[in-house]
Amino acid sequence: MGSCCNFVLRGAELKYSTLLATTTAIALSLATPLLRAVQIPAKTVVLTFDDAVRSQITVVAPLLEQLGFKATFFITHNWMDDQAHFLSWEDVAELNRRGFEIGNHTWTHSGFDTPEKGAMLGQELQMVDDELARVGVPKPISFAWPGDNFGPEALKQLQLHGIKLARRGMQPEVPYGEVQVGPLLDVTKNYPLLIPTTGDAYPDWTLDHFKKVVAGARDGRVVVLQFHGVPDVVHPWVNTPPEMFRQYMFYLKQHGYRAIAMRDLLPYFNWSHLPDDPLMTARVASARRK
Ligand SMILES: [Zn+2]
Repeated sequence: MGSCCNFVLRGAELKYSTLLATTTAIALSLATPLLRAVQIPAKTVVLTFDDAVRSQITVVAPLLEQLGFKATFFITHNWMDDQAHFLSWEDVAELNRRGFEIGNHTWTHSGFDTPEKGAMLGQELQMVDDELARVGVPKPISFAWPGDNFGPEALKQLQLHGIKLARRGMQPEVPYGEVQVGPLLDVTKNYPLLIPTTGDAYPDWTLDHFKKVVAGARDGRVVVLQFHGVPDVVHPWVNTPPEMFRQYMFYLKQHGYRAIAMRDLLPYFNWSHLPDDPLMTARVASARRK
């Protein structure tokens, strides 16, 4: 008796759940063209730190942990032999263990804007991947264009290598070296391998300028910040004084900003219909020194 009723009840549930699943599937298929990405909350800021500068583990990481902020560290081997001022691979592994994202920033930090250099990018990405694997860091899905230079051949190499997200500079919208607010990330317009830098931190930044940069993080757009060392002794043109950095980060915290890593952008792109970004065929060489 009991098993009979249970059977009937289960059968009814089964039919109901099948009907529900079918209805949901139809509704979803009808809605698919309209379904976009997860909504981007206001006050979303991506924090990125380039060039494997030593102060990133001594100054930056502890402050970010204190504030509950995520970030991406873009690692290049290029300056690592200078152990006094740059991270070791073991330091990079520690940043990964502490929950930060490790991104690929190439082995030689060359400009990859030309067809010849672009063709070599895959090999350089692999060299960094191999060293990361040696110290237990997973293969990065994020990349930062060295010197903010980019070109279509290198873009193809990123796709082939499985890189999902790549950050460029403020160029071509804003010339290199100018204290201006750069382009905001709009996931409906920017291709995910050409994510613009909104704020490139220079030593003459002020807290007022920083406030202008981060104010753009609303209406579905994201602010992407590019830092180097805090401080940066070897590359003083991208130095951020520690006291200024503390002011910037505390401003974000006090005003309810959400600081995320590059990889946290993944759910915001519509991967079945990526933007047709005109810069995908552009060649940009910013002639910067770092
Ligand atoms: Zn760099």
